[in-house]
Amino acid sequence: MNDTYECDGCGACCRTKLVDVFEEDLLREPRIGPQMQPLREPGLDGEIGYLNCLTNGACPFLGSENHCGIYPTRPVVCVLFPAGSEECQEARQTFGLSRLEPIVKPQP
Ligand code: SF4
Ligand code: SF4
Repeated sequence: MNDTYECDGCGACCRTKLVDVFEEDLLREPRIGPQMQPLREPGLDGEIGYLNCLTNGACPFLGSENHCGIYPTRPVVCVLFPAGSEECQEARQTFGLSRLEPIVKPQP
């Protein structure tokens, strides 16, 4: 059985990852367009890439205590980002954080 992980809100992914923003994300959250710097021209299937990194490597929506300023309407890729994945672990390593450990389930 696969391990289960729970995001601890370290914010490392929001400081290191590119965010692929889709048209539906822009329509749902109009603040994304002006705040995230375009990485590439609109591509196939309506995909629009934006660079999640301006001057300090952090997403412009990342607020104090690692809160996402647009949490309810954040890009789908952020909603689906898997805690405990290798991407997550690499991001944590970048900031000297320990690996995210799987949740230990109580034995039945
Ligand atoms: S790097 Fe992993 S643990 Fe940290 S906020 Fe992102 S998903 Fe959560
Ligand atoms: S939109 Fe929110 S969840 Fe997505 S990278 Fe930015 S701060 Fe993180």
